[in-house]
Amino acid sequence: MTAVSVSGVTKVFNQGRADEVTALSDVDLTVGAGEFVSLIGPSGCGKSTLLRLVADLIAPTTGEVVVAGKPAPKARLDQDYGIAFQQAGLFEWRTVRRNVELPLELRGQSRAARRARAEEMLALVGLDEFADHYPAQLSGGMQQRVAIARALAVQPPLLLMDEPFGALDEMTRERLQTELLGICAKTGTSTVFVTHSISEAVFLSARVVVMSPRPGRITATVDIDLPTPRDENVRQSPAFFDAVTTVRKALRAAA
Ligand code: ADP
Ligand code: MG
Repeated sequence: MTAVSVSGVTKVFNQGRADEVTALSDVDLTVGAGEFVSLIGPSGCGKSTLLRLVADLIAPTTGEVVVAGKPAPKARLDQDYGIAFQQAGLFEWRTVRRNVELPLELRGQSRAARRARAEEMLALVGLDEFADHYPAQLSGGMQQRVAIARALAVQPPLLLMDEPFGALDEMTRERLQTELLGICAKTGTSTVFVTHSISEAVFLSARVVVMSPRPGRITATVDIDLPTPRDENVRQSPAFFDAVTTVRKALRAAA
């Protein structure tokens, strides 16, 4: 089973206008079931655009996007994935708990089941004491953790994450990276993860997909042969530093 299949995708914004921009050109990407793939590249290279195409938040100009074996719009309707993007995207009028419960509500889960699941997810991201707060009462990093808890709440078969840890301090970030890998391994979740951190991409991924600046293309794919499950020792290993160097070189070659 393939989680995501992007073939021959081009995305042109404002086509035919003076401000036309080709954000992606001829992109092919396959993510296998249970695979963790990171997209890395300089700002503006089309990473978010590619993720938004997979999530069916925008449509490709040419090419095809298949998610969970279905056209992307169908996968969106079927809620086959969870998303956590740069901006936390929380509902200000709902408490933290009720933000996390929202996707469970949409799936018709009982009040008790929702509540238990939300508690579990909030504990995971270290926010169990903030369940009854409103988003505006939290720091940016805490809001982002709520968004991650919400994305994980339904245990989606596919997670789409766009720099979800960008606003977090280094310690929280590393802890959540390890937690995320644990959750994905346990649940067999496939993940497409956008980052501009080389070390984050290497630590998390089975494969790192390197993109070039405009028009965004995939210029290299680096297989990360580090032991799994990945623990804190991996970060100190020579193999980790070698992989970081390989990705850095691929990024330089693409620039
Ligand atoms: P990244 O996430 O890698 O930083 P993006 O995917 O956000 O890059 O953007 C890629 C390119 O597409 C940029 O040049 C950006 O300005 C352009 N772009 C993205 N979204 C839109 C949009 N909705 N309308 C016009 N241009 C856009
Ligand atoms: Mg982006």
